[in-house]
Amino acid sequence: MSLTGAYDPDNIFAKILRGEIPSVKVWEDDRILAFMDVFPQSEGHVLVISKTSTAQNLLGIDADDLAAVTAAVQRTARAVTRALSPDGFSIMQFNGEAGGQTVFHLHFHVIPRWADRPMKGHGHAPMADVEALKTLAAKIAAALD
Ligand code: AMP
Repeated sequence: MSLTGAYDPDNIFAKILRGEIPSVKVWEDDRILAFMDVFPQSEGHVLVISKTSTAQNLLGIDADDLAAVTAAVQRTARAVTRALSPDGFSIMQFNGEAGGQTVFHLHFHVIPRWADRPMKGHGHAPMADVEALKTLAAKIAAALD
């Protein structure tokens, strides 16, 4: 997918937003959905997306929606770090196929990191157990501001 192609309304995150496929939600409001990555690169890997923007990547989102998403990334990172006490965390965001993006609805990854646990590679992590993801999501949600 090029950086400037048309938004595909049938991408997997659009389907999650429409409730056509399930997700393990951490939190949501009118503008934002934060949910567990099903192929987590580390325990507690959360994805943050806009409900109001159909930007494929960082280039296409308007400033107001971007401000809402970045505030949501910070809110989510605070909850993840409170809930799971990692040694650090990574915020990742990929643009275009050549940039490592695989789902073409703009999203930010919040990935907790531990000094003694290597992070799994992007696109190379095994699928997580959904019940384990639900437990993690509840723990993170309980730590939200
Ligand atoms: P990216 O490669 O940056 O576009 O990230 C897409 C992310 O979506 C990857 O980390 C995938 O593991 C994740 N992913 C793909 N399908 C789903 C799904 N159905 N539910 C949750 N996460 C997903």
